[in-house]
Amino acid sequence: MGDCIFCRIAAGEIPAKKVYEDAEILAFHDIHPAAPVHFLMIPKAHIPSLAEAGPEHAAVLGRIFAMAGRLAREQGSPDGFRTIVNTGRVGRQDVYHLHIHIIGGPDPLPRMIAKE
Ligand code: AMP
Ligand code: ZN
Repeated sequence: MGDCIFCRIAAGEIPAKKVYEDAEILAFHDIHPAAPVHFLMIPKAHIPSLAEAGPEHAAVLGRIFAMAGRLAREQGSPDGFRTIVNTGRVGRQDVYHLHIHIIGGPDPLPRMIAKE
């Protein structure tokens, strides 16, 4: 997936500010943070979006969610955070490599999404 920016980050071809890495997961800071804490968690394997995820991805997605709380605390969000997975056209996904936003900080976030 040479043209996928998150595959290239996972491969080390594009720099990122890493939060966590193992053989199948990478977490890195969002380049345009929406809050004091804002990082992304991705499976290193290319899954275009949550809409394309299947049973074969359950283990890595479970591992990502099971690790989110610890990483959020370590990054400065000790009292909760928001997870967002934008999916497809309706979800206004911009980067088509499945990623989970972890957004937080010391203070409460605005409530959910704004109504347009
Ligand atoms: P979305 O696909 O709409 O869920 O959002 C994609 C997110 O990726 C945005 O919040 C971008 O700021 C972020 N992003 C895009 N390119 C990079 C990059 N090279 N490094 C870190 N974050 C990025
Ligand atoms: Zn990719």
